[in-house]
Amino acid sequence: MRDRLADALSRAKADYAEVRFSIDDSTSVMYRGPEPEQVRSARLSGGVVRACVRGGWGSSNFDSLDDLDHHVREACECAGLVGTTATQIADAPVAPPSEHRAALLRDFRGIAVTEKIALVAAYNDILLRSVPGVETSFAGYSEVFRTVAFASSRGASFLEERPRVDLFLGAVARDGSLVQQCFDGRASLQTYDAAVGLEALAEEVARRAVALTKAPPCPGGTHTAVLDNRLAGVFAHEAFGHMSEADFIYENPQMRELMVLGREMGGPELNIVDDGSMPDAQGTHPFDDEGTATGKTYLIRNGLLAGRLHSLETAAKMGEPATGNARAVRQSDRPLVRMTNTYIEAGTATVQELIAGIDKGIYACDALGGQTMMEQFTFSAGYGYRIENGLLGEMVRDIVLTGNLFQTLHAIDGIADDLVITNGPGGCGKGGQAPLPVSFGSPHIRIRDVVIGGR
Ligand SMILES: [Zn+2]
Repeated sequence: MRDRLADALSRAKADYAEVRFSIDDSTSVMYRGPEPEQVRSARLSGGVVRACVRGGWGSSNFDSLDDLDHHVREACECAGLVGTTATQIADAPVAPPSEHRAALLRDFRGIAVTEKIALVAAYNDILLRSVPGVETSFAGYSEVFRTVAFASSRGASFLEERPRVDLFLGAVARDGSLVQQCFDGRASLQTYDAAVGLEALAEEVARRAVALTKAPPCPGGTHTAVLDNRLAGVFAHEAFGHMSEADFIYENPQMRELMVLGREMGGPELNIVDDGSMPDAQGTHPFDDEGTATGKTYLIRNGLLAGRLHSLETAAKMGEPATGNARAVRQSDRPLVRMTNTYIEAGTATVQELIAGIDKGIYACDALGGQTMMEQFTFSAGYGYRIENGLLGEMVRDIVLTGNLFQTLHAIDGIADDLVITNGPGGCGKGGQAPLPVSFGSPHIRIRDVVIGGR
């Protein structure tokens, strides 16, 4: 298949051209409330040719390889209609002809769909019935085995198998008019077993949703906050990681002024990394969707802005090295500058030391969601606890953190030694492309003077 793609590209009349073709075999099972909502199985294949002529991009989508020459021609012609300047593509090393087969410890494709339905039904039963007070539940399983073939006019050529299993658990509890929810789950590129044996997690999800209906709301005001691994990891991804995507910086003059390399972003202990080559993480691939090798990129190193994430085009336009961060979600999507696995590196404090230093504060855990507007962010934690005299107190609900990214990074005054990389279900969204598999991670971190909404 790779040879066929490369052969068709050899006749491309463009400054740059690439073709990506993939086949997805997928199955999903979804429960909502007591009944199964749907069971789906699909095989979808398709691809896209992308071409660049005088700086203008054209593309042509297809669902079979039968008429690839036509689609290459069409993409080149479309690009020729819009290009007016000069094509800028970084001269990064290309993916050598190679095949990367999945090495699944337990392959989900050999397991009967009836077993997968029974697995989800059992989790759903626990969510609904293990703790009084749960009003409704969500339990979902999804698997996809994607085979991607890629070639570019720069000589890149690879085939990669990308398997993925997702298991998602959610509970909604009600006490009078107060409704609270809790979600959790697991994802893996390695094994079906990641979706198995999560009975205790399902019970924990139900228990926490009900506990939140009994908890008081978080007191509003300015607090010292300790963020758990997951909330701090989501913060690193959402509030900072997206601002490190070079297409965003290149297109926004204001961002170019804010994100000058070398700018002091935080204390010398602060390091934030994106690494698409780390083992056992969801954003890991040998090459990105332009055939550039992935790797470890320091975004903040020793507190200073050290790098950003690039496609071939943004790297050339900004005169910086390509980082292997051009990624596409669906078969028809063009690659965008995206994160892979983004995390805050471990510090030296223990979690107990972070909490012990606080007279009055909030321990905020898990993330329900968030919004960012340039450097302003708003995040909802899943749940949390009061901190009083250096000790954890009662559970609180409705914790909403808001602030300015730059001020908040400077206000981090403690980084624990307990880095956890989270491989959760779902993924990242950008430009209408979601869910992109990514991992995020962090140790516990302590932030001084965070504005927390509440009552
Ligand atoms: Zn994202």
